[in-house]
Amino acid sequence: MNKKTIRDVEWAGKRALVRVDFNVPQDEAGNVTDDTRIRAALPTIRYLLDHGANGVVLMSHLGRPKGKVDPKYSMRPVVERFFELLPEAQEVRKTEAITGPAAEAAAADLKPGIVLMLENTRFDPREEKNDPEMAAELARLGDVFVNDAFGAAHRANASTEGVAHFLPAVAGFLLEKELEFIGGALENPKHPFVTIIGGAKISDKIGVIENLLGKVDALLIGGGMANTFLLAEGKAVGDSLVEPDSLEVARDLIAKARAANVRLLLPVDALIADAFSADAQTRTVSVDAVPEGWRILDIGPETVKLYSDEIARAQLVIWNGPMGVFEMEPFAGGTRAIAQAMAEASERGATTIVGGGDSVAAVEQAGLAEKMSHVSTGGGASLELLEGKVLPGVAALQDK
Ligand code: ADP
Ligand code: MG
Repeated sequence: MNKKTIRDVEWAGKRALVRVDFNVPQDEAGNVTDDTRIRAALPTIRYLLDHGANGVVLMSHLGRPKGKVDPKYSMRPVVERFFELLPEAQEVRKTEAITGPAAEAAAADLKPGIVLMLENTRFDPREEKNDPEMAAELARLGDVFVNDAFGAAHRANASTEGVAHFLPAVAGFLLEKELEFIGGALENPKHPFVTIIGGAKISDKIGVIENLLGKVDALLIGGGMANTFLLAEGKAVGDSLVEPDSLEVARDLIAKARAANVRLLLPVDALIADAFSADAQTRTVSVDAVPEGWRILDIGPETVKLYSDEIARAQLVIWNGPMGVFEMEPFAGGTRAIAQAMAEASERGATTIVGGGDSVAAVEQAGLAEKMSHVSTGGGASLELLEGKVLPGVAALQDK
């Protein structure tokens, strides 16, 4: 990575202004139900505390409050969980302000060892407009800006991108790790390099597939998007989810894969159901034999075997997009089997990377997240990296 990181800063006497991604899921009562993203930011915050930063100011968005103060999206419950996870912070404070005199006074009052959490940056309508005035106001709260919010780095907002133009700006450890794993894998891949692409829609993943076609040895397609490819190959897919508008795109990608000498594999069998429901009737059939009125909701056992064999031979595996409707237990098996094959690949030394909100949820649900080389904390951001895009929150940081 060619960006400066928190290791390149002499922290003593400097106040750190850190963008984290504390956009965590909560239950009705506001309790944090998954603190993965908070935990992921701890190494950076710990480093800043240990290296004598003159206080740490944290900023994050939470949910979609649409530019208005909405108590439902207050950072308060998040701060409480954060403090439980970082007991070595002497004190964790929280202000109702985001910018302005109250925020500036709270920031000025910090000392080494003390962390201050600002209120939800999206309470300010200027955040998502990347308003330079808001960015300048935020910049008054610290001496050095640290971006550790990988999950928000694909959005040019005042607290992710704008503020970096007003302060020395460096990457935190989480951002660095995500870029090194995903960016590094794509720039300098080990071979055989196998990617598995699934999920609901082909239209969401065209950019990813196009970018990967120049790099991978094999591309394994699953999930709802495989149906459009199957249809493009002349198969009948019954009532399966398809995107008729993307048929041309699918044909084009098949041709491009052939031209690039990439093996593009499609499912050979499927688990089909007579309704989109967990208690539908199900059957396993060849993809040549999907009856009318039925729909493909998962890959079948032959496909699992075929894809697992590919993964077993790979040195680098990147996976985005579930193989089936994993949210319903009867259709979670294909996704789980791929996660298992990846876990085994990691064990024998291959690099295994999972990106994408639902894919990560599926791997966690399968209890296999720990077995992967890297599980990305950013759904949209990891997809944009896989598409070969430069993330605005990264581009704005200082070069090494
Ligand atoms: P990610 O968030 O990992 O990028 P996507 O959002 O692209 O993944 O896709 C996830 C969704 O795809 C899940 O909600 C899953 O139910 C759906 N899906 C997977 N296979 C099918 C299928 N055969 N039919 C309909 N939906 C599917
Ligand atoms: Mg998704």
